[in-house]
Amino acid sequence: MPDPRTVATHCPYCALQCGTRLTRERDGVSVRPADFPVNQGGLCQKGWTAPSLLGVPDRLRHPQLRRDGELVPVSWDTALDTVATGLDRLRAERGPDAIGVFGGGGLTNEKAYLLGKFARLALRTSQIDYNGRFCMSSAAAAGTAAFGLDRGLPFPVTDLAGADVVLLAGANPAETMPPLMQHLRSAQLVVIDPRGTATAEQAALHLRPLPGTDLALALGLLHIAVVDGHTDAGYVRERTEGFEAAWQRAMSWWPERVERVTGVAVAEQRQAVRMLAEATSAYVLTGRGAEQHSKGVDTVSGFINLALALGLPGRPGRGYGCLTGQGNGQGGREHGQKADQLPGYRTITDQTAREHVAEVWGVLPEVLPGPGRSAYELLDALGTEDGPGALLVFGSNPAVSAPHAEHVVRRLRSLDLLVVADFVPSETTELADVVLPVTQWAEEEGTMTNLEGRVLRRRRLQAPPGDARSDLEVLHGIATRLGEPGERYPTRPREVFEELRRASAGGRADYSGISYERLDAGEALHWPCPNGHHPGTPRLFLDGFAHPDGRARFAPVEHREAGDVPDEVFPLTATTGRVLAQYQSGAQTRRVAELNEASPGAFVEVHPDTAARAGLTDGAPARITSARGSTIAEVRLVPTMRTDTVFLPFHFPGEGRANLLTGDALDPRSRMPEFKVSAVRIEPHRTA
Ligand code: SF4
Repeated sequence: MPDPRTVATHCPYCALQCGTRLTRERDGVSVRPADFPVNQGGLCQKGWTAPSLLGVPDRLRHPQLRRDGELVPVSWDTALDTVATGLDRLRAERGPDAIGVFGGGGLTNEKAYLLGKFARLALRTSQIDYNGRFCMSSAAAAGTAAFGLDRGLPFPVTDLAGADVVLLAGANPAETMPPLMQHLRSAQLVVIDPRGTATAEQAALHLRPLPGTDLALALGLLHIAVVDGHTDAGYVRERTEGFEAAWQRAMSWWPERVERVTGVAVAEQRQAVRMLAEATSAYVLTGRGAEQHSKGVDTVSGFINLALALGLPGRPGRGYGCLTGQGNGQGGREHGQKADQLPGYRTITDQTAREHVAEVWGVLPEVLPGPGRSAYELLDALGTEDGPGALLVFGSNPAVSAPHAEHVVRRLRSLDLLVVADFVPSETTELADVVLPVTQWAEEEGTMTNLEGRVLRRRRLQAPPGDARSDLEVLHGIATRLGEPGERYPTRPREVFEELRRASAGGRADYSGISYERLDAGEALHWPCPNGHHPGTPRLFLDGFAHPDGRARFAPVEHREAGDVPDEVFPLTATTGRVLAQYQSGAQTRRVAELNEASPGAFVEVHPDTAARAGLTDGAPARITSARGSTIAEVRLVPTMRTDTVFLPFHFPGEGRANLLTGDALDPRSRMPEFKVSAVRIEPHRTA
């Protein structure tokens, strides 16, 4: 007989989705790591302290409505009536695209799916996107172009345990997902990162390019692989297309030129390629450091080109993968909350896809809107003549996490109606006209898809406090008030998942053979899983890539400058990233005492020489200024920083927001903002 006080579930935070067992104790909830393949009994500090989230004192418990400038508690009926009336009015005045929807990469598969359906059917708006655009869109676009299919890791994490050499390009898993490191214990690590991160400290070789030059480095590594005779000619001939065009671009990136542009010594470039080429088992993994650029797609493609030239992807014991960041970063991009996608990871402009999804939804394909604006473009358009006058935000805090944050806050303030569904107050709920309190991880059922494409069950341990409701109920409540049939928006996660299975059938991410029953029976199911007897697909591409001819594609990429280039006014480059004890915008982790103690506020890492030149002292506040604005952060002197670069974590609010500095340059294909490069100056911050 199972103990009703205990559930097996997964950590609420990152894409590793470590397995946990939660128990209701007399004085709260305790957590134990489960013996789950990705974490094998390990958890990071965030996972160990996750139960604290369930008891945060300022948990949102009741719907709130802004009256006379103040948010005041109201009933659900009043809140949802207000939302529906406001949306109806705007829609009548300005058409369906006057309403925008902003989702999140932490939402369960069921929520992401129903949110996309709600936007396209109940609102009929094309204006939906989500914060995953800021996280993984460049790797998704590059992976799809190269392999015909994007799944973060096309192999289980546990395969990495057999690696001799792993190249990590712009990834810092020792801080962002520490249990992953146990799979890298036997590997020699080659780390590409401008910072001396916790991962770089464990590296056999650390390459420190100037932020924004990773693509030049990738081109240079391909150049060395070719010239020094390390390419796998048979693999390139039999399994790929487009090598010659890619090589034409890499040809001019000889090692000395790469050293001049990136700052990475010729000997280090050669050593990195030699280590990868001579290893029996080697992997290339990319992270946000390669992706969050206005040339993020090309940068990731540059590293995929290198992996293809060395014959790694789609072979046992070798491969290329992307370390997805957010908890449901993988599932979040597959079920239709992305501006250009429908469920099953289908393209919204594909007529066959539209017909399939429309049939599942019981409507004509013409009813479905086309592609909408990408996340930053959507935020940038809010309150403008052509842009949405209302925004519904689910599971996101763009006032802190979006680039050019002060501008985004101004746009949010300019809305006629801002509705935010969340379980804790955030810098975005502070701006809202209506706040809707929703359930969080241990209070709800559902599924998540981790970075390996493995579908996992999230299980409910306890009821939510106060009047909090599930996001599915919220969507149902708004949709029915807008005149939609209630049965179109199921409120039970299992029912939503059953529909999601049908909608995904035949798509790139096919979940049709995955069910709650199979997951609850303990089956390990990685998509694609096209029928109820299919074992799932932990390893992709072993028999061929997903392009019709089965071949992978090289991409002919060329290096170009970042949107911001240092000059006399802004002579340094600021790059942003994460720390171990915080997660995303910090709305959750800043409320956990142990995490807040470990990482209490904004800081800036500066090389001692740079600090001396600028008159900065360790521990004192500094003002960092870009063309967008200024932020205040505590100086940390770090001898391993480049002298031309400073680093700021982006988890902190108020005047410490790193995204006050970042700009609006976007990748032309993925629409990824350039979080990793801002030209700045730094000076002591003197308080009056
Ligand atoms: Fe949670 Fe990620 Fe830490 Fe695992 S690594 S405990 S999933 S935050």
